[in-house]
Amino acid sequence: MNDWHYFQSCPVCSGTKLKIFKKGSLHLHQLEPATIKITDSHYGQTWNLSQCSDCGHIFANPSPPIELINRLYARIEDPEYEAEAANRAQNFIPILNQLDQMFPNRGKILDVGAATGIFLALAQKRKWQVTGVEPSTWAVRLASEKYNLNLIENTFEKVKLPAGNFQVITMIDFIEHIPHPKEAVRKAANLLQPEGILVIVTPNIKSLVARLAGKRWWHYRPAHLAFFTWSSLTTLLEQAGFQLLKKSTYIWTFSLYYLLSRFDSLRALWSPPKLALFWKKVQVKLPLGDSFVIFAAKKR
Ligand SMILES: [Zn+2]
Repeated sequence: MNDWHYFQSCPVCSGTKLKIFKKGSLHLHQLEPATIKITDSHYGQTWNLSQCSDCGHIFANPSPPIELINRLYARIEDPEYEAEAANRAQNFIPILNQLDQMFPNRGKILDVGAATGIFLALAQKRKWQVTGVEPSTWAVRLASEKYNLNLIENTFEKVKLPAGNFQVITMIDFIEHIPHPKEAVRKAANLLQPEGILVIVTPNIKSLVARLAGKRWWHYRPAHLAFFTWSSLTTLLEQAGFQLLKKSTYIWTFSLYYLLSRFDSLRALWSPPKLALFWKKVQVKLPLGDSFVIFAAKKR
Protein backbone atom coordinates (compact mmCIF):
# COMPACT_ATOMS: atom_id res chain seq x y z
CA MET A 1 0.00 0.00 0.00
CA ASN A 2 3.07 2.23 0.26
CA ASP A 3 3.76 1.97 -3.45
CA TRP A 4 2.40 3.91 -6.37
CA HIS A 5 -0.66 2.18 -7.76
CA TYR A 6 -0.44 1.52 -11.49
CA PHE A 7 -3.83 0.95 -13.09
CA GLN A 8 -3.99 -1.56 -15.95
CA SER A 9 -7.73 -1.03 -16.23
CA CYS A 10 -10.26 1.73 -15.58
CA PRO A 11 -11.25 2.05 -11.90
CA VAL A 12 -14.83 2.84 -12.99
CA CYS A 13 -15.74 0.44 -15.83
CA SER A 14 -12.72 -1.94 -15.81
CA GLY A 15 -12.07 -1.14 -19.49
CA THR A 16 -8.47 -1.83 -20.52
CA LYS A 17 -8.09 0.75 -23.30
CA LEU A 18 -6.30 3.54 -21.44
CA LYS A 19 -4.68 6.55 -23.07
CA ILE A 20 -2.63 9.45 -21.73
CA PHE A 21 -4.89 12.43 -20.97
CA LYS A 22 -2.38 14.82 -19.41
CA LYS A 23 1.22 14.67 -18.38
CA GLY A 24 1.41 15.69 -14.73
CA SER A 25 3.85 18.04 -13.04
CA LEU A 26 3.50 16.82 -9.45
CA HIS A 27 6.09 14.94 -7.45
CA LEU A 28 5.57 12.86 -4.35
CA HIS A 29 7.50 15.28 -2.13
CA GLN A 30 4.88 17.93 -2.95
CA LEU A 31 2.25 15.77 -1.30
CA GLU A 32 1.74 17.08 2.22
CA PRO A 33 -1.20 18.09 4.40
CA ALA A 34 -0.94 21.72 3.22
CA THR A 35 -1.25 20.84 -0.47
CA ILE A 36 -4.24 18.51 -0.12
CA LYS A 37 -6.36 20.60 2.26
CA ILE A 38 -9.67 21.90 0.89
CA THR A 39 -8.50 25.51 0.55
CA ASP A 40 -5.22 24.66 -1.16
CA SER A 41 -4.58 27.00 -4.08
CA HIS A 42 -2.00 25.00 -6.05
CA TYR A 43 -4.34 25.19 -9.02
CA GLY A 44 -3.34 23.74 -12.35
CA GLN A 45 -1.22 20.93 -10.91
CA THR A 46 -1.98 17.29 -11.56
CA TRP A 47 -0.50 13.80 -11.44
CA ASN A 48 -0.05 11.92 -14.70
CA LEU A 49 -3.63 11.42 -15.85
CA SER A 50 -4.98 8.50 -17.89
CA GLN A 51 -8.29 8.41 -19.68
CA CYS A 52 -10.44 5.33 -20.26
CA SER A 53 -11.49 4.99 -23.91
CA ASP A 54 -14.70 3.21 -22.93
CA CYS A 55 -16.35 5.36 -20.24
CA GLY A 56 -14.20 8.51 -20.48
CA HIS A 57 -13.07 8.46 -16.85
CA ILE A 58 -9.88 10.43 -16.15
CA PHE A 59 -7.68 9.45 -13.24
CA ALA A 60 -4.21 9.70 -11.69
CA ASN A 61 -2.15 6.85 -13.08
CA PRO A 62 -0.16 5.84 -11.22
CA SER A 63 -2.02 6.92 -8.11
CA PRO A 64 0.19 8.12 -5.23
CA PRO A 65 0.42 5.52 -2.43
CA ILE A 66 -2.94 5.20 -0.70
CA GLU A 67 -1.52 4.71 2.79
CA LEU A 68 0.54 7.87 2.37
CA ILE A 69 -2.53 9.84 1.31
CA ASN A 70 -4.50 8.51 4.26
CA ARG A 71 -1.75 9.53 6.67
CA LEU A 72 -1.73 13.04 5.22
CA TYR A 73 -5.50 13.43 5.42
CA ALA A 74 -5.32 12.50 9.10
CA ARG A 75 -2.95 15.46 9.64
CA ILE A 76 -4.82 18.14 7.67
CA GLU A 77 -5.63 21.39 9.45
CA ASP A 78 -7.58 23.95 7.47
CA PRO A 79 -8.72 26.99 9.49
CA GLU A 80 -9.31 28.89 6.21
CA TYR A 81 -12.07 26.40 5.40
CA GLU A 82 -13.82 26.88 8.72
CA ALA A 83 -13.45 30.67 8.43
CA GLU A 84 -15.76 30.40 5.40
CA ALA A 85 -18.28 28.22 7.25
CA ALA A 86 -21.23 30.58 6.73
CA ASN A 87 -20.62 30.68 2.99
CA ARG A 88 -19.92 26.96 2.71
CA ALA A 89 -23.23 26.37 4.45
CA GLN A 90 -24.95 28.28 1.63
CA ASN A 91 -23.61 25.69 -0.82
CA PHE A 92 -25.34 22.90 1.07
CA ILE A 93 -28.79 24.41 1.52
CA PRO A 94 -30.22 23.48 -1.92
CA ILE A 95 -29.14 19.85 -1.33
CA LEU A 96 -30.77 19.74 2.09
CA ASN A 97 -33.94 21.36 0.75
CA GLN A 98 -34.29 18.54 -1.77
CA LEU A 99 -33.56 15.83 0.81
CA ASP A 100 -36.14 17.33 3.18
CA GLN A 101 -38.72 17.10 0.40
CA MET A 102 -37.83 13.49 -0.38
CA PHE A 103 -37.92 12.47 3.28
CA PRO A 104 -40.57 14.51 5.09
CA ASN A 105 -40.09 12.25 8.16
CA ARG A 106 -36.30 12.56 7.91
CA GLY A 107 -34.14 9.59 8.95
CA LYS A 108 -30.44 8.79 9.13
CA ILE A 109 -27.91 10.60 7.02
CA LEU A 110 -24.25 9.69 6.57
CA ASP A 111 -21.85 12.34 5.28
CA VAL A 112 -18.66 10.87 3.82
CA GLY A 113 -15.68 13.22 4.13
CA ALA A 114 -17.59 15.38 6.59
CA ALA A 115 -14.74 17.90 7.07
CA THR A 116 -15.60 20.15 10.03
CA GLY A 117 -19.26 19.12 10.06
CA ILE A 118 -20.79 22.23 8.45
CA PHE A 119 -23.19 20.12 6.36
CA LEU A 120 -24.16 17.77 9.19
CA ALA A 121 -24.72 20.63 11.63
CA LEU A 122 -27.29 22.03 9.19
CA ALA A 123 -28.85 18.59 8.68
CA GLN A 124 -29.11 18.08 12.42
CA LYS A 125 -30.98 21.38 12.79
CA ARG A 126 -33.48 20.00 10.27
CA LYS A 127 -34.03 16.92 12.47
CA TRP A 128 -31.90 14.45 10.55
CA GLN A 129 -30.00 11.84 12.64
CA VAL A 130 -26.47 12.47 11.53
CA THR A 131 -23.30 10.38 11.18
CA GLY A 132 -20.08 11.64 9.64
CA VAL A 133 -16.81 10.01 8.66
CA GLU A 134 -13.74 12.23 8.47
CA PRO A 135 -10.03 11.31 8.61
CA SER A 136 -8.65 14.67 9.84
CA THR A 137 -8.08 14.73 13.60
CA TRP A 138 -8.28 18.53 13.55
CA ALA A 139 -11.62 18.58 11.69
CA VAL A 140 -13.16 15.97 13.99
CA ARG A 141 -12.12 17.97 17.05
CA LEU A 142 -13.47 21.20 15.60
CA ALA A 143 -16.80 19.55 14.69
CA SER A 144 -17.10 18.43 18.29
CA GLU A 145 -16.17 21.80 19.81
CA LYS A 146 -18.10 24.03 17.45
CA TYR A 147 -21.13 21.96 16.43
CA ASN A 148 -21.25 19.32 19.17
CA LEU A 149 -20.98 16.60 16.51
CA ASN A 150 -19.34 13.23 17.12
CA LEU A 151 -17.73 12.46 13.78
CA ILE A 152 -16.07 9.09 13.28
CA GLU A 153 -12.34 9.69 12.80
CA ASN A 154 -11.52 7.30 9.98
CA THR A 155 -11.44 6.90 6.22
CA PHE A 156 -14.60 5.70 4.48
CA GLU A 157 -12.59 2.80 3.07
CA LYS A 158 -11.81 1.46 6.54
CA VAL A 159 -14.83 2.47 8.63
CA LYS A 160 -17.21 -0.27 9.70
CA LEU A 161 -20.89 0.73 9.72
CA PRO A 162 -24.06 -1.37 9.79
CA ALA A 163 -25.48 -2.40 6.39
CA GLY A 164 -28.86 -1.06 5.32
CA ASN A 165 -28.76 1.61 7.98
CA PHE A 166 -29.09 4.96 6.22
CA GLN A 167 -31.80 6.80 4.29
CA VAL A 168 -29.23 9.14 2.76
CA ILE A 169 -25.50 9.11 2.08
CA THR A 170 -23.81 12.28 0.88
CA MET A 171 -20.42 12.42 -0.84
CA ILE A 172 -19.81 16.13 -1.35
CA ASP A 173 -16.44 16.65 -3.02
CA PHE A 174 -15.28 13.22 -1.98
CA ILE A 175 -15.03 10.77 -4.89
CA GLU A 176 -12.44 12.85 -6.76
CA HIS A 177 -10.08 12.39 -3.79
CA ILE A 178 -9.90 8.59 -3.85
CA PRO A 179 -8.32 6.20 -6.36
CA HIS A 180 -11.08 3.55 -6.18
CA PRO A 181 -14.45 5.35 -6.45
CA LYS A 182 -16.38 2.23 -7.51
CA GLU A 183 -15.58 0.45 -4.24
CA ALA A 184 -16.69 3.52 -2.26
CA VAL A 185 -19.98 3.87 -4.13
CA ARG A 186 -20.64 0.12 -3.80
CA LYS A 187 -20.02 0.42 -0.09
CA ALA A 188 -22.54 3.27 0.02
CA ALA A 189 -25.10 1.03 -1.74
CA ASN A 190 -24.56 -1.58 0.97
CA LEU A 191 -24.99 0.93 3.80
CA LEU A 192 -28.19 2.42 2.38
CA GLN A 193 -31.70 1.18 3.01
CA PRO A 194 -33.57 -0.16 -0.05
CA GLU A 195 -35.22 3.26 -0.58
CA GLY A 196 -31.96 5.05 0.14
CA ILE A 197 -30.59 8.02 -1.76
CA LEU A 198 -26.98 8.77 -2.64
CA VAL A 199 -25.93 12.37 -3.26
CA ILE A 200 -22.67 12.99 -5.11
CA VAL A 201 -21.05 16.35 -5.80
CA THR A 202 -17.90 16.19 -7.90
CA PRO A 203 -16.14 18.38 -10.49
CA ASN A 204 -17.15 18.02 -14.16
CA ILE A 205 -14.00 17.96 -16.27
CA LYS A 206 -16.01 18.49 -19.47
CA SER A 207 -17.84 21.57 -18.18
CA LEU A 208 -17.55 24.84 -20.06
CA VAL A 209 -15.61 26.45 -17.20
CA ALA A 210 -13.15 23.55 -17.10
CA ARG A 211 -12.59 23.79 -20.84
CA LEU A 212 -12.19 27.58 -20.78
CA ALA A 213 -9.80 27.45 -17.82
CA GLY A 214 -7.75 24.72 -19.52
CA LYS A 215 -4.61 23.83 -17.61
CA ARG A 216 -5.37 26.43 -14.93
CA TRP A 217 -8.71 24.91 -13.90
CA TRP A 218 -9.06 25.23 -10.13
CA HIS A 219 -9.97 21.55 -9.71
CA TYR A 220 -6.59 20.49 -11.10
CA ARG A 221 -4.83 20.17 -7.75
CA PRO A 222 -2.73 17.66 -5.83
CA ALA A 223 -5.67 16.24 -3.83
CA HIS A 224 -7.72 15.33 -6.89
CA LEU A 225 -6.99 11.82 -8.14
CA ALA A 226 -10.05 11.40 -10.35
CA PHE A 227 -12.05 13.53 -12.78
CA PHE A 228 -15.49 12.53 -13.92
CA THR A 229 -17.31 13.13 -17.17
CA TRP A 230 -21.05 12.68 -17.49
CA SER A 231 -20.40 9.32 -19.10
CA SER A 232 -18.01 8.04 -16.42
CA LEU A 233 -20.22 9.26 -13.58
CA THR A 234 -23.31 7.49 -14.95
CA THR A 235 -21.20 4.37 -15.54
CA LEU A 236 -20.00 4.55 -11.94
CA LEU A 237 -23.60 4.72 -10.65
CA GLU A 238 -24.71 1.90 -12.93
CA GLN A 239 -21.79 -0.35 -11.89
CA ALA A 240 -22.49 0.24 -8.22
CA GLY A 241 -26.22 -0.50 -8.46
CA PHE A 242 -27.75 2.98 -8.60
CA GLN A 243 -30.15 4.71 -10.94
CA LEU A 244 -30.01 8.42 -11.55
CA LEU A 245 -32.89 10.49 -10.17
CA LYS A 246 -31.76 14.06 -10.65
CA LYS A 247 -28.81 15.99 -12.04
CA SER A 248 -27.91 19.64 -11.54
CA THR A 249 -24.85 21.80 -11.03
CA TYR A 250 -23.36 23.26 -7.90
CA ILE A 251 -23.56 26.93 -6.97
CA TRP A 252 -20.55 28.04 -4.97
CA THR A 253 -20.80 30.76 -2.36
CA PHE A 254 -17.63 32.44 -1.18
CA SER A 255 -16.65 35.67 0.48
CA LEU A 256 -14.88 38.05 -1.84
CA TYR A 257 -11.94 37.83 0.55
CA TYR A 258 -11.65 34.08 -0.05
CA LEU A 259 -11.75 34.51 -3.81
CA LEU A 260 -9.16 37.30 -3.85
CA SER A 261 -6.90 35.39 -1.47
CA ARG A 262 -6.65 32.60 -4.08
CA PHE A 263 -4.35 34.96 -5.97
CA ASP A 264 -0.99 35.61 -4.40
CA SER A 265 -0.35 38.37 -6.93
CA LEU A 266 -3.30 40.33 -5.48
CA ARG A 267 -1.92 40.16 -1.95
CA ALA A 268 -1.79 43.97 -1.61
CA LEU A 269 -5.53 44.01 -2.14
CA TRP A 270 -6.60 41.33 0.35
CA SER A 271 -3.97 41.09 3.08
CA PRO A 272 -4.21 44.50 4.85
CA PRO A 273 -6.48 43.76 7.87
CA LYS A 274 -9.01 46.54 7.24
CA LEU A 275 -9.44 45.59 3.59
CA ALA A 276 -9.62 41.90 4.54
CA LEU A 277 -12.41 42.63 6.98
CA PHE A 278 -14.33 44.48 4.30
CA TRP A 279 -13.96 41.77 1.65
CA LYS A 280 -15.01 39.12 4.16
CA LYS A 281 -18.42 40.77 4.42
CA VAL A 282 -19.07 40.60 0.67
CA GLN A 283 -20.72 37.36 -0.36
CA VAL A 284 -20.38 36.15 -3.94
CA LYS A 285 -22.41 33.41 -5.60
CA LEU A 286 -20.68 31.66 -8.49
CA PRO A 287 -22.86 29.39 -10.60
CA LEU A 288 -19.76 28.04 -12.34
CA GLY A 289 -21.55 24.91 -13.50
CA ASP A 290 -18.31 22.93 -13.20
CA SER A 291 -19.48 20.46 -10.56
CA PHE A 292 -22.16 17.80 -10.89
CA VAL A 293 -24.83 17.41 -8.23
CA ILE A 294 -26.33 13.94 -8.54
CA PHE A 295 -29.20 12.33 -6.66
CA ALA A 296 -29.34 8.57 -7.24
CA ALA A 297 -31.53 5.77 -5.88
CA LYS A 298 -30.61 2.17 -5.24
CA LYS A 299 -31.82 -0.08 -8.03
CA ARG A 300 -34.57 -2.47 -6.99
ZN1 LIG B 1 -13.85 3.30 -17.95
